[in-house]
Amino acid sequence: MENAYLGGQWQTAGSGARTAVTDPANGETLGQVPDLDSPTMQAGIDAAVAAFADWRHSTAGDRAEALLAWYDGMCRHRDPLAEMMTREQGKPIDEARGEVDYAASFLRWFAEEARRIEGTAIPPEAPTLALGTRREPVGVAAIITPWNFPLAMITRKVGAAIAAGCTTVVNPASETPFCALALARLAEAAGLDAGQFNVLTGSGRTFGETVCADTRVRALSFTGSTHVGRALLAGAADTVKCTSMELGGNAPFIVCDDVDLDRAVDDAIAAKFQTSGQDCVAANRIYVHRKLYDAFVARFVERMNAMPVGHGLDEATAIGPLIHSQAVADVQALADDAAAQGARLFGRPQNEAPGPNFFMPTTIADFTPAMRIAREEAFGPLAAIAPFDDDDAVMAAANDTIYGLASYVYTHDDARIRRFLRGLDYGMVGINTMDITGAQVPFGGVKQSGLGREGGHAGIEAYLETKFYCIGDAHR
Ligand code: NAP
Repeated sequence: MENAYLGGQWQTAGSGARTAVTDPANGETLGQVPDLDSPTMQAGIDAAVAAFADWRHSTAGDRAEALLAWYDGMCRHRDPLAEMMTREQGKPIDEARGEVDYAASFLRWFAEEARRIEGTAIPPEAPTLALGTRREPVGVAAIITPWNFPLAMITRKVGAAIAAGCTTVVNPASETPFCALALARLAEAAGLDAGQFNVLTGSGRTFGETVCADTRVRALSFTGSTHVGRALLAGAADTVKCTSMELGGNAPFIVCDDVDLDRAVDDAIAAKFQTSGQDCVAANRIYVHRKLYDAFVARFVERMNAMPVGHGLDEATAIGPLIHSQAVADVQALADDAAAQGARLFGRPQNEAPGPNFFMPTTIADFTPAMRIAREEAFGPLAAIAPFDDDDAVMAAANDTIYGLASYVYTHDDARIRRFLRGLDYGMVGINTMDITGAQVPFGGVKQSGLGREGGHAGIEAYLETKFYCIGDAHR
């Protein structure tokens, strides 16, 4: 049993309501967390407001040291954090270790960025004037994160916010609160002041409504689905908050006819099946030049069918469970729709799945634009492949979506690389690589995949305001 973390205190819900957290692989109850009501969430905001009064005036050095101490704590607790993540989220343990490293890297990155927040000097029109800008923290930042990356989606936002001098209230996904609470313990041990990092467990909807209505919350950052992002943008409009949104994706993965087939297949497998396919940058639509198409499909299915499916704590597992049974039903519905419209389906039978939350990896070959899979994100181990004949047509197909997060292109031809780079309407383009993430990367999407960037130099912008000043001559 864990409590929420408010103002440096471990608190239960006023009403005593609690939500169970389960291992998605086997349904085992791992524990419970408080289901905070809106007044208790407001108490968390009170704590963040109180902490902001001091933290806003902290030095870059203070911020860097707090973040580095937090980073060290994450590194020292790598194995228990990874195990906890696999238990509550389901991802294979090696991927969980990778996420701990990735999540910690944002704390170190933003510790460094804290020292690079700079203003400007503006040439005045009179010699006695001094004009310039200061960068100041926005204020209290509210942060809502999803379950697929339960540590990294928090540190990517909170690291930037704390480095900027903001304080934070965080609502983790109901499925994965333990990772967030473990981060709170490490923040406490690292010496972050009470109220700088509050973890308010409970319904995302209640949290969203509470922070949207509160004028003291000045920034709202969300990672999750596009439809919830739209609702939060509308809610944040009432109090005109600074918003940043990392939303859904529908990534195209384009394989031209001049590439090494095996390498392209290896990367397509990795780009589709990481996080058991529950990844916003996962390759959702794989387009392969017709010359390579049959060989690619055969090799891809062979590689997919060799991936062990099981509990994430088994070191051999490559595909873990989906987050809950509804996720399995959603993926199955996309596969059924494609089959009904004439696609070929490949994969091991679903009755070989080790439990009700598992979906056996499946490939849809010959998908068409009329199928749901062409427009909707398959948040699971369901790959879709179609042939193409010319670059302009595949670029148009790739861009024919409301989303614009990640895209991938495989070709050795320099002119083609430049054409795809210019033409793809995506926030991120991986060329001959699917490894497009990292603390140094301005991660984010265009169109309905979001607003703003996280990580990189850009990631701190969501938490900074620009204050202009003009100093006149007092002795004039
Ligand atoms: P989701 O339903 O949008 O949930 C994400 C979070 O939003 C959860 O913490 C949830 O809280 C909360 N939430 C739900 N309804 C809410 C509301 N009305 N107001 C405020 N918060 C609310 O997303 P999901 O389906 O679980 O997650 C997968 C989606 O996230 C995919 O579309 C994926 O592409 C996207 N994603 C994007 C990125 C990126 O960086 N672009 C990264 C990861 C995931 P509760 O748990 O309490 O419901």
